[in-house]
Amino acid sequence: MDFSLSPKTEDLRKRVSAFMDQYVYPAEKEVLAPERAESHEEHPIMKDIRKKAKAEKLWNLFLPDERYGAGLKNHEYAPLCEVMGRSPLGARAFNCMAPDTGNMEILAEFGTEDQKKKWLKPLLDGEMRTCFSMTEPDTPGSDPTQLKTRAVRDGDYYVINGHKWFTSNAIGAAFAVAMVVTDPEAESHRRASQIIVPTDTPGFNLIRPVPVMGHAGGGGHCEIIYKDCRVPITSMLGREGDGFAISQARLGPGRIHHCMRTIGVAERALELMCQRANTRWTHGSYLADKANIQEWIAESRIEIDSCRLMVMNAAWMMDTVGKKEARQQISMIKVMCANMVMRVLDRAIQLYGAAGVSDDFPIARAWRESRALRIADGPDEVHRQTIARRELRKWK
Ligand SMILES: Cc1cc2nc3c(=O)[nH]c(=O)nc-3n(C[C@H](O)[C@H](O)[C@H](O)COP(=O)(O)OP(=O)(O)OC[C@H]3O[C@@H](n4cnc5c(N)ncnc54)[C@H](O)[C@@H]3O)c2cc1C
Repeated sequence: MDFSLSPKTEDLRKRVSAFMDQYVYPAEKEVLAPERAESHEEHPIMKDIRKKAKAEKLWNLFLPDERYGAGLKNHEYAPLCEVMGRSPLGARAFNCMAPDTGNMEILAEFGTEDQKKKWLKPLLDGEMRTCFSMTEPDTPGSDPTQLKTRAVRDGDYYVINGHKWFTSNAIGAAFAVAMVVTDPEAESHRRASQIIVPTDTPGFNLIRPVPVMGHAGGGGHCEIIYKDCRVPITSMLGREGDGFAISQARLGPGRIHHCMRTIGVAERALELMCQRANTRWTHGSYLADKANIQEWIAESRIEIDSCRLMVMNAAWMMDTVGKKEARQQISMIKVMCANMVMRVLDRAIQLYGAAGVSDDFPIARAWRESRALRIADGPDEVHRQTIARRELRKWK
């Protein structure tokens, strides 16, 4: 295993870092200002940053297919993702933000030519936003075989009825990829399908952005009621019953991206910890000289570097032996990184004292936004259960 960067990746990493220094970090104060917290509009500064990134060809770096993106393998893209993850604005600046990335990946892999023309092309061009609509308030998201939202065939249409929530980024999205039950009698992993639903379709009712830890801005984590929502049968992604297979296809790379961005968040928090510890003087010495602070810093470095190696290993396995064979590693990094970032951020908050919980520094926001990672894309407990079952099977 050799994780040294190829000249192409090293060049991209340097350019993404320089772009972040020049445009992204300096924009944070204004774009993320508390008075904009409930706004659903994209800030003009952000629009301008995206234009610049596109012009510099730092765009769609996540797509492995050269026809659509940078043509990087997972282990090549991962270090870029880490750099982007250092700022809440990073991924969007480069058109590499979830859930659009997942939707682009599945359109590229499973979309028909018409679907690609109508939906993938404007997404690649950065002219559209999208959402992914699977989780329901009345069924456990951690076990999607229990989904209830139904799509019933009626001539050349599917008619969708059901209740979803936590459809992130639905406000301002052009379409949702909805996970719906097309055959309730089928074997559990063939019951569901994924269907493209334009958000202006009658019967796509956006009820509200669910407030999350006191915030409901941006594209929102939205509650949606599908009421007799009719979409043409040509809106189906893949074939009827492919919903779970398509989900698996998007989740592998998506988890590598999430994990590497998380490492970026933790790395920035550690930098901030060190800066503060070196300059804050209390009880006769700098914080940096106190044993407990040194321990927090050392533990954070050990945990961040361990996670990075694990993620790089998972990415390398996906690239060499395939997504299916790398499933154990992907589950492991999902749990490790989501927990690691919370520990590092908690230490950073403690080290900063009152400043740590204020919105004058980026740590509190990072803590709030990272907490969901232990739940979304599979809660910790489900991943641990899966990891344990695979280990146990080896010794049966
Ligand atoms: C900020 C955020 C953004 C999200 N964005 C989206 C989105 O864009 N689209 C979308 O469709 N969904 C989204 N989700 C939803 C997310 O995918 C679900 O929350 C997740 O799948 C868990 O489902 P649930 O919330 O229904 O929890 P449940 O399934 O009810 O589980 C609750 C808890 O039960 C425990 N548990 C569950 N199963 C087991 C088990 N086997 N063993 C032990 N304990 C278990 C776990 O502790 C788990 O956290 C988002 C969630 C958050 C928080």
